[in-house]
Amino acid sequence: MTRITSCFASLFLAAFVSACGAGEAPTEPASPTSSAADDRIDLIVNGAHIVTMDAADTVIENGAIAIDEGIILAVGTADEIATRYSAAVTLDGERRIVMPGIVNGHSHAAMTLLRGVADDLALMDWLQNYIFPAEVEFVDADFVRIGTELACWEMIRGGTTTFVDMYYYPDTIAEVVEDCGMRALISATVIDQRSPDAENAGDGIRKGSGFIERWQGRNSRITPIFGPHANYTLNAEQLAATRAAAMELGVPISIHLSESPFEVQNSQNVYGMTSIEHFESIGFFDGPTIAAHVVWPTEEEIPILAERKVGVIHNPTSNMKIASGIAPITEMLDAGVLVGLGTDGAASNNDLDMWEEMRLSAFLQKVDRMDPTAIPATTVLRMATSGGATAIGLGDTIGSLEVGKRADLIQVAFEDVHHVPTYDVVSHLVYVTDEQDVASVVIDGKVVMLERKITSIDTERVAEEATALAGRIKAALSERNQAD
Ligand SMILES: [Zn+2]
Repeated sequence: MTRITSCFASLFLAAFVSACGAGEAPTEPASPTSSAADDRIDLIVNGAHIVTMDAADTVIENGAIAIDEGIILAVGTADEIATRYSAAVTLDGERRIVMPGIVNGHSHAAMTLLRGVADDLALMDWLQNYIFPAEVEFVDADFVRIGTELACWEMIRGGTTTFVDMYYYPDTIAEVVEDCGMRALISATVIDQRSPDAENAGDGIRKGSGFIERWQGRNSRITPIFGPHANYTLNAEQLAATRAAAMELGVPISIHLSESPFEVQNSQNVYGMTSIEHFESIGFFDGPTIAAHVVWPTEEEIPILAERKVGVIHNPTSNMKIASGIAPITEMLDAGVLVGLGTDGAASNNDLDMWEEMRLSAFLQKVDRMDPTAIPATTVLRMATSGGATAIGLGDTIGSLEVGKRADLIQVAFEDVHHVPTYDVVSHLVYVTDEQDVASVVIDGKVVMLERKITSIDTERVAEEATALAGRIKAALSERNQAD
């Protein structure tokens, strides 16, 4: 079965060196469905079903997307698109579902290198006795580069096209994202303790401002932002100072919010109010906020989140694994809160599989409320795509397959036994599909994975470097344990 015609190996590179661009005719017809047409464009992606995730939940049978210069030019039936356009590259749509790329609204990408290093612990024990010390000891720019490459590989493989990251050495993260072709909001972490790349919160804000100034407007796929860690790792003054710096630079903030009973209690003890009330009282929500977790909002706090347009990112796997609790997603959606999904870091998940987040978010709401009608499949798919895009402030740019949006989309193969039979495409995407079913991934109009072959990352090198680095961490940890 021909999935693609000429030039595919260099398609990703084409973005940078025009190796496959104008003037170079394909050596064979683009595909059986792309007949001669006047309009010559970069890419046509066909699908047996196109799940657009537009406001009307339109699904097009035997459809196609026309893409040029990274933008969706047209969405229609395969016949319509083939009549109107001819493309340098065409992806065949047989047994393929096309949908928007998945948005992972909260991650610590480089923590893939700490996957499984400390499991089965409570959040504060896990953070203070394992993760923070391990990070101070092992995390440097090289760690972040290799760990982020590993994460980008895993995310692209699973159909994630955009992620919101919070980690150290944000310049290194941005360089990796620039090279691997993904779209990302990259947070400069601010935390009131010595971290791998800053002495304290003030140093974090200063260095973060430098990072944001270096990357603002440099690459349309990369949005540099601030990532103050949480209400319990920064005081009110430091939180307000981070927001002031973000406002001055015109960037959003991502933060952990109302994640655990510890956090809520700590906020009560220190400020006499819960985290969200506290943030509201210091004007923290005056600028765009992406809030991870929000497991414990009170009834009074949920309307604040809706009114202040806080993007809430639900991380069901992490919340279950660290036993943080079950976020009241149904109540938040009912109140009009913008909700997306995320994986959190691979140290508390332990993978970056957004299909698992989709399934678990549905199941958790159903069992928590003892109501199988709670958040149906379409709602879940929306949180992973258009809803997530809106929650992170990119709703006008990505998240649905509509004319004028950036071309971030994936082809999901429907040929594995678990997709036989298929009655309802959206039900299958949410309740059946897993990472291995993702066949091809397009980000900003560039094919970064073609029929499960990633074209933008040297996966062999990354695997070797990650294994070697993990070996050094393992040796150091066992040496430390012997000394204890
Ligand atoms: Zn997190």
